[in-house]
Amino acid sequence: MTRCRLCGSSALGSVVDLGATPPCESFLAADQLDKPEPAYPLHLRVCTDCWLAQIPPLIKPEETFTEYAYFSSFSTSWVEHARTFVADAVERAGLGSDAFVVEVASNDGYLLKHVVDRGIRCLGIEPSVNVGAAARDAGVPTLTEFLSPETGAAVRAANGPADLVVANNVYAHIPDVVGFTEGLRALVADDGWVSIEVQHLLTLIEENQYDTIYHEHFQYYTVASAIRALASGGLALVDVELLPTHGGSIRLWARPSEVAGEPSQRVLDVLDREKAAGLQELSGYTEFSARVAKVRRDLLKFLVTAAEDGKTVVGYGAPGKGNTLLNHCGIRPDLLAYTVDRNPYKHGRFTPGTRIPILPPEQIGVDKPDYVLVLPWNLRTELVEQLAYVHEWGGRLVFPIPELSIVEVKR
Ligand SMILES: [Zn+2]
Repeated sequence: MTRCRLCGSSALGSVVDLGATPPCESFLAADQLDKPEPAYPLHLRVCTDCWLAQIPPLIKPEETFTEYAYFSSFSTSWVEHARTFVADAVERAGLGSDAFVVEVASNDGYLLKHVVDRGIRCLGIEPSVNVGAAARDAGVPTLTEFLSPETGAAVRAANGPADLVVANNVYAHIPDVVGFTEGLRALVADDGWVSIEVQHLLTLIEENQYDTIYHEHFQYYTVASAIRALASGGLALVDVELLPTHGGSIRLWARPSEVAGEPSQRVLDVLDREKAAGLQELSGYTEFSARVAKVRRDLLKFLVTAAEDGKTVVGYGAPGKGNTLLNHCGIRPDLLAYTVDRNPYKHGRFTPGTRIPILPPEQIGVDKPDYVLVLPWNLRTELVEQLAYVHEWGGRLVFPIPELSIVEVKR
C-alpha cells in the first residue's frame, strides 16, 4: 500500500502489524482441513494527512460476502438495538407513511423488519446471497447488490430518492470508500438523511480492541476522518452519537452538504476528545502496538498455565474478531479444545488458520469445563447473564480484552 485510499497521500505510518492470517470469516468445512489455506498480511497504518487508519485491500468483498456466515438476528442485543434505532430515526428524519427507507448491507432484514412493521416503504441492498434470501423470506424487499454510484442511481431511478439511507456496520467493509459514499449520496433525497454506524477508532485504541482489525475492515474511523470520508461523496456530518456497540461505535448523521448546516456541539466535543487522545499525531497510535503485545502475552500465559495444571478451557463464540485474536496469539486446540456458537451455519466447521472445532453451545453444559474463554467480549453484559450456568460446576468466564480478566459468574 503506497497511497491513502481517501486522500491519495503517501504519508502512511505504521500502527500495528499483526502478521499474516486467513480472512476471518473463512470458516473451514471438515473436507477443507487437508487443503492449503491462504493467509494475508494484516498491518494497520494511518495516513498522517487525513488520519484515516487503513489496511491494504488484499481481499475482495465479493469473495467474502457472497456466502456470509453472519446472521444479525442471532444476536438478541442487535435485534433490540435495531428496534430502538428505527424508532429514533423515524422521529429525527420525520418519516411519515409515504417515506422511503433504504438500508445498505441490510443483512437478514433484522433492522428493516421494524420499518416494514411501521408500514413504511423500504428496500434492503445486501450483497450476500444467503442472508439476502433470509431477509426476503422474512418479508423485507432486498436487492442482491454491492453499493456503487451506479447501483445508487439505479435504485433512485426505480424507486425515487430515499428520505433515509441507513448504512450500519458496512462503512469499514468497503475498500472503495469514495465510490461507496458517492453511492449513498446517489440514494438519498436532496433534503434527506444518511445514518451510518461504524466502529470508533478512539475506543479501539483506548480499549486495546485490536482483534477488530481484520481483512474485511479496510478502514477505521475517527469522527475527524469520517468527516473527510463523507465529504468525498458530497455529504456533511450534522450530528454524532457514541454507542457501546462493537466495544464503541459512532453513529454519524449526515445530510447532503448543501442542506447540512453547522455540525452539532456533540460533533465538536468528540473531535476535541480525539485530539486530546493524540489521534492527530502519529505518537497517539504507536503506543498501541506495545499494549497489543501485552494482551497476547497475558492470554498465552493464562492458557499455557491452565493446560499445565490440567484445567479444561473451551471458547464461547466464533466471531470474526475471535479469529484475529486466535491467529495472532497462535492458539490451537491443545490450548483451546473447541469453541461454541449459536449460529448453526458454523457448527461442524473450524476456525480459519487455527482450526479449532466449532460446536453447538449445549456442549459446554455436557463437558463442564473449568474455564470458558469468551471471544465476543463486546457482548459481555449479555453473555455474563446467558452463561451464568457455568457457575453451577465452579467454572469461570475469561475475557481477553481490554485486558485478561477472569470473572466469577453471577448467580
Ligand atoms: Zn489520507
